[in-house]
Amino acid sequence: MSKYFKQCTGQLSKTCSIMGNADGDDKPFCLSYNEIKILNFPKRIIEVSIPVKMDSGDLQVFTGYRIQHNDIRGPFKGGIRYHPKVNLDEINAMAFTMTIKCAVANIPYGGAKGGITVDPKKLSQEELERLTRGYTRAIADFIGPDKDIPAPDVYTNPQIMAWIMDEYSRIEGKNTPSAVTGKPLEIWGSQGRSTATAQGGFYVLESLLKKVKLNKKAITIAVQGFGNAGMNFAEIAHTAGHKIVAVSDSKGGIYNPHGLDIKKVIEYKKTTGSVIDFREAENITNEKLLELPVNVLTPAALENEITIRNAGRIKANIILELANCPTTIEAGEKLYKKGIIIAPDVLANAGGVIVSYFEWVQNVRHFYWDKKKVNDRLKTQIIKAFNEVWNNTNRHNVNMRTAAYMLAIEKLGKALKIRGI
Ligand code: NAD
Repeated sequence: MSKYFKQCTGQLSKTCSIMGNADGDDKPFCLSYNEIKILNFPKRIIEVSIPVKMDSGDLQVFTGYRIQHNDIRGPFKGGIRYHPKVNLDEINAMAFTMTIKCAVANIPYGGAKGGITVDPKKLSQEELERLTRGYTRAIADFIGPDKDIPAPDVYTNPQIMAWIMDEYSRIEGKNTPSAVTGKPLEIWGSQGRSTATAQGGFYVLESLLKKVKLNKKAITIAVQGFGNAGMNFAEIAHTAGHKIVAVSDSKGGIYNPHGLDIKKVIEYKKTTGSVIDFREAENITNEKLLELPVNVLTPAALENEITIRNAGRIKANIILELANCPTTIEAGEKLYKKGIIIAPDVLANAGGVIVSYFEWVQNVRHFYWDKKKVNDRLKTQIIKAFNEVWNNTNRHNVNMRTAAYMLAIEKLGKALKIRGI
């Protein structure tokens, strides 16, 4: 379809050929090349125009997307992004990634993604609300608790999920909290959802550190992106005793080789709107942050940040992909050859969708769990996925991304075979 989406399907074909060539007892279940074609195409592409009356009285028309990639294992599931660079190719690639991720995490969902091409920072709260309600109306026929359940992503948040839930409920004529996840607690969001992506990533990192025996008391970590995923991860890792030496946001980054006081950085970001110029650190660029000599590099912003152009300069031992698709496949291969371990997005950031699933289950049942129960279940679910991926890396001598894709393809393939294409 297009460049970015093709990268994802390239990983799919590559994984299938490794699976197809495996011998004897190690031969995993795999679809044929012919059958796998089904995953090379999204099931449905929805593109909508959203007219919004701006505060000035002008009318502006925004473009929104919802791409439903595959629902063989359950209703479509995936976040909604508001960003000026949102485009069909990007959303398509991320919808595909969601299909793989839900299979890796073994939750009963397929994959989808949505977005609006907009710079939300330039909109008032009222404009943002009208835009969100307009988008919800435009895609309402295609979403719902048993069809497709949206969630937050870059520059969307619990308030935006609340507007989606409210608008969808008005259209349906009944209260429908299970139509969207990542909602505020007051309207039946889940405990632990706001920190779930970061918490899940932290469980993956802990598990990985035990395997690779990087047994330092405090490892050094750099985090690119200081939003839901990155900021919460920095706080959790800092509280656990690790040294966060660098963080960044869209305006730039900060670096202190002796470690940052993350609570202070969070307060600073809340008051100034950015991490830059934080007094106890030096300013660095986002590019420089990626190349710092740290044990763990955590991209938690946008896609395609680590490419063949800068892969040679990456010095981290581990890359924990909290962002979706931050490393190109080509760059990933190069890093693997250099001995750098990548905990891939489809595993490392699956905590978000796992707890979204828990939120949906609670909404459907109208029965709510405390934070400990949510976190305990998240831990069990994501560590199980980690162990399955890790076993595949050893069994088939492949990197963790390929190992995770193997796990997903096996699950998707069996479901496709049983249901019938
Ligand atoms: P967010 O909007 O809460 O935060 C995004 C952060 O990235 C902000 O700090 C922003 O300033 C920063 N940023 C934006 N452009 C940047 C750039 N060019 N360089 C550096 N920083 C930049 O978004 P989020 O929910 O934390 O999502 C971040 C990543 O995590 C995305 O790739 C998203 O798909 C992925 N993710 C999020 C969730 C979730 O539950 N929120 C789940 C899985 C994956």
